Amino acid sequence: MNTPANPAAAIEKGLFHTPFWLAPAADVFAQRSVRFQELAAAENSQWRDYLALLGKLAAAQQAVAAKHVFALPPTHQGHTVLPQAALGEVPADFYVVLAGLLAEVGTQAPQNVQAELNALAALPRAAAEALASRVLTGSSTPEEQAATVWVQAALQIIWTAWAAQLLEDAVPPVQERTHCPCCGTEAVGSVVFASGDLAGLRYMHCPHCNSRWNALRAKCPTCDSSGGMAIQEIDIDAAVAQVAPLLAAKAESCDVCRSYRKLYRLEKQQYADPLADDLASLGLDILVGEGGYQRAGANPFLLLGG
Ligand SMILES: [Zn+2]
Ligand SMILES: [Zn+2]
Repeated sequence: MNTPANPAAAIEKGLFHTPFWLAPAADVFAQRSVRFQELAAAENSQWRDYLALLGKLAAAQQAVAAKHVFALPPTHQGHTVLPQAALGEVPADFYVVLAGLLAEVGTQAPQNVQAELNALAALPRAAAEALASRVLTGSSTPEEQAATVWVQAALQIIWTAWAAQLLEDAVPPVQERTHCPCCGTEAVGSVVFASGDLAGLRYMHCPHCNSRWNALRAKCPTCDSSGGMAIQEIDIDAAVAQVAPLLAAKAESCDVCRSYRKLYRLEKQQYADPLADDLASLGLDILVGEGGYQRAGANPFLLLGG
């Protein structure tokens, strides 16, 4: 929880102040790594290997983040508090962070991804930055898809470190609740807190800078209507025992705009991570997709057709 730097401001806000925005936890990547490993252990298909690899990648992200101090760029320069990711401007630190990340994960990655890591590590600075810019703007080619995982991971380190330096007052509430107020990326899912001051409140999660922001549960975060919301979930009786860690994943669908996004009730699974758990509950996407709903919010580590 953010401790306001100014006690007078805290009093003004009241004791039961609901923060609009929550900064990423200092150990967000380490927590995610543990979660990926848990989910990998519970997965009995080949998909287990990818979840395990992402567990190693998240641990490497935490290790690399700890080695750098990222200077906060000027804030509020455009529509978002931090530089808007989709504008494609590559941070000056990106190249060295990518190199560090590839070196860190390279020692543990399986043989079949070594070639990919080596090719990426061999890219000259200009080529790596051009690739990162394409990843940010969503214009990378299908051949580049496997590389985007590592590039996204490096970019996440930087944007997350920036977000972690912001004070709560720097991120005022905005009407828009689908996209991250800090970096403009669409939410990958949301969590409903189980305990503490925030119990029962829903926060959207940014897959890029790991910010969270408050959004009313009764309203569709995509189209703002409140009439057609429904919760969909896998029929647990019909599912195999291995889905136990996934019990918290539900799809919140809207009949007005026909979109859905996943929601995790932390009372059911306190360690649910909107990015990791999303990748371990793809059966839910199939179920909801068959019902004619379109997924809202991309997961940077979900390689379609991969
Ligand atoms: Zn963000
Ligand atoms: Zn809607």
